[in-house]
Amino acid sequence: MKQIIKFFRSLFLLELFKGMGLTGRYLFKKKFTIQYPEETAPQSPRFRGLHALRRYPNGEERCIACKLCEAVCPALAITIEAEPRDDGSRRTTRYEIDLFKCIYCGFCEESCPVDSIVETRVYEYAFENRGENILTKERLLELGDLYEEQIAQDKAQDAKYR
Ligand code: SF4
Ligand code: SF4
Repeated sequence: MKQIIKFFRSLFLLELFKGMGLTGRYLFKKKFTIQYPEETAPQSPRFRGLHALRRYPNGEERCIACKLCEAVCPALAITIEAEPRDDGSRRTTRYEIDLFKCIYCGFCEESCPVDSIVETRVYEYAFENRGENILTKERLLELGDLYEEQIAQDKAQDAKYR
């Protein structure tokens, strides 16, 4: 009996019409797809993209070389070297993040006591040359300067939900 039903189902293309009916039902419904890159999906203020090092408004770098971010990083992606300055303050002489190792977990940002290392909303980046996967301290500070306004806004918004 089962074989006969199967035969008639294939003879009258029932499965095909069922599929077309489903497609037809969604034809005029609201679309969930977007035309990237012209359109982009909304992002959370907690989005974890490219890293940056922030400065205080007077231009002084925030990082105090406590190395908490380096210690907490599960991917061992952060390398820090530090020395005391002439004025006795402690600052990094080398701060590097290997983006090939990073898993964008956000632990470095969470652990930082002075809101220095952050992950920005930037996700559209690519490498063309060997070594560009290493974000140096200079590059990180540059990114911090570039996106400070957005970072500060996101931090303020995030604080409301904590
Ligand atoms: S986001 Fe996670 S994996 Fe990447 S550098 Fe920070 S702590 Fe390491
Ligand atoms: S970025 Fe933050 S956690 Fe990392 S060494 Fe600097 S102050 Fe410490």
